[in-house]
Amino acid sequence: MRYTKEAQETLKNHGFRLTQSRKTVIKVLDKSKGPLSPYDIQKLLQEDKVELNHVTIYRVLDLLCSLNLAHRVITKGGFMKCTLEGAEGCHRYMVCRACGAVAEFSDGSLCKRENEVAEKLGFYAEQHITEFTGLCAKCRGSHRGGHI
Ligand SMILES: [Zn+2]
Ligand SMILES: [Zn+2]
Ligand SMILES: [Zn+2]
Repeated sequence: MRYTKEAQETLKNHGFRLTQSRKTVIKVLDKSKGPLSPYDIQKLLQEDKVELNHVTIYRVLDLLCSLNLAHRVITKGGFMKCTLEGAEGCHRYMVCRACGAVAEFSDGSLCKRENEVAEKLGFYAEQHITEFTGLCAKCRGSHRGGHI
């Protein structure tokens, strides 16, 4: 799979060894369509008779997040693989409150605007963490005819 390959390359390029636990977590993230907590990952692995400590899993997720290979979905308390491959601006999520769909997006101009807000207060922002909650296009369809 492409993500698995790219994630492994990125780790190597940053001088991190491709340990079995790192490889395993990357593979699980690659297969998943929704956010996973360290415990979710542990359970999925147990189904395949693979035992991995949740602290180890958490450490791997932390590393992947620091390299922008994965992100935390704040309102879901889980982690997802990055789907934007180094797109400009902070990577964030829109989370549908009806069906739980999670969509990653980034917008460089949004970051610029946020930096201006920070600068006005003499603050230097290194990262912007926000998440949108609401209704996805599909779920909105069934509510058409008025603003919610
Ligand atoms: Zn991303
Ligand atoms: Zn939805
Ligand atoms: Zn940003």
